[in-house]
Amino acid sequence: MSAASEWRETRNVAARVRLERALPAVFPAAVLAHALSRPLVPPTPRLAVESYWRHHLVRADRLARGLAARSGTPEGWTWRLGALREDGLPLSFRMPPAPFREPAFARERGHCRICGQPVYRFGWHADLWGAGVPNRNAGWHAACVAAWKLWTAPAEQVKALKARQRHRCAESGKRLLRTAEVDHRTPLYRVWREHREAPWPVLLGYWGVPNLQVVNRTIHAAKCAEEAGERAQRRRDLPPPG
Ligand SMILES: [Zn+2]
Repeated sequence: MSAASEWRETRNVAARVRLERALPAVFPAAVLAHALSRPLVPPTPRLAVESYWRHHLVRADRLARGLAARSGTPEGWTWRLGALREDGLPLSFRMPPAPFREPAFARERGHCRICGQPVYRFGWHADLWGAGVPNRNAGWHAACVAAWKLWTAPAEQVKALKARQRHRCAESGKRLLRTAEVDHRTPLYRVWREHREAPWPVLLGYWGVPNLQVVNRTIHAAKCAEEAGERAQRRRDLPPPG
């Protein structure tokens, strides 16, 4: 056994002991199985939950949008962009709209700032423990945090998205190259321009897996150029202001 693997084995024995000691009687079986199979076993139930969602992004994305659908579009809310960070509005149409992060629509403590639903122990989305009330110290679900990271920085998840496409370019069907890039099938500027009035949970799908694809770089460059051309044309077609 090498020194590194010996170190890891010692560390994992200690982590397993810590995890099992902290584990409540009820705990999601899939999360525990995931934790125990990690090369570095997470030493707390919360870290186990976070690791689970980080490694199951497609599932996290689907769950977060499902929870948002349960909340629905808050009464009186519309997708608007802000000029200042302080007003809680997204600064750009590239950011997913998040009504519950806006002070006017924020829910009471213990509710997720991303989806609006109650949060339970370890950032879980279901009340497996029969607590009856949300965890008032929690501000988001572990699944929603993982989904938010995917929505706001999909390029960092290129590996997972490539695997999902079986390493084939979504546009050409050819094998994805090492330099392949993540693309929004419907570009976000068009979401803002053409789909702004869609119900909020539906809007989130444009940042999620349903609208993400990995394409080879040359194809991506051509698509971006075409989109830029279309936007420029549209600006020229606009009537002069005033
Ligand atoms: Zn949530």
